[in-house]
Amino acid sequence: MLPIRAITLDLDDTLWPVLPALIEAEHCVDRWLKEHHPTVATQWPIEAMRELREKVAREHTHLAHDFSEQRRITIRQAFEACGIDDAPVDALWRIYYAARNNVELYPDSLPALERIAAKMPIVSISNGNADLEVIGLHHLFHTRINAIGAGVAKPDSKIFLAAADALDLPPAQILHVGDDPLLDVVGAREAGMPTVWLNRTGEKWSHGPAPDLEFADMHGLADWLDDSSATGG
Ligand SMILES: [Mg+2]
Repeated sequence: MLPIRAITLDLDDTLWPVLPALIEAEHCVDRWLKEHHPTVATQWPIEAMRELREKVAREHTHLAHDFSEQRRITIRQAFEACGIDDAPVDALWRIYYAARNNVELYPDSLPALERIAAKMPIVSISNGNADLEVIGLHHLFHTRINAIGAGVAKPDSKIFLAAADALDLPPAQILHVGDDPLLDVVGAREAGMPTVWLNRTGEKWSHGPAPDLEFADMHGLADWLDDSSATGG
């Protein structure tokens, strides 16, 4: 491995567990509907709304990189099915977005990020609509890249190469870190980056050639970066 000069980093399930925030966001939307549009809430309980969102995703494959637009279309369709043409898309989107970004960091994430950011630039690469500014971590990132802005989602090489462009570094000197074997490890390797699998759950690797490195949490990565710079590696 060449000396590492920057980190690209996945967000959801790498720095915080995303599922609790997504579930709470669905409940916030549901509570708002019950209060303001009870007929819509009755016709579209959480489970039905989730199925509609999946149907929207299947029918709009050109929006595979844009979860936000998929969700706005879902709101519009749910209201249309109840005979309401002017759905409160913006209001509901704001409620969803605020709750979705109300994440609870893994305890290692912030201290490890601070250690790493003091050494080298960090670029986020996310397929989701997490907002580092809302979450309060943006000051630790050199650049933030998401699938909506890049026009493609991981594992497409283009989103990783956009990060290399922003850093003005060759992919071989950028270490990509993420929890998802296919989206993060396989995708980044295809783009020519060395890879870290952040394996918080202690799973076994079963996706072809192993990642270059594997850590159980972000401290493992920060420790490794300390050691490799101490040895000039
Ligand atoms: Mg992830």
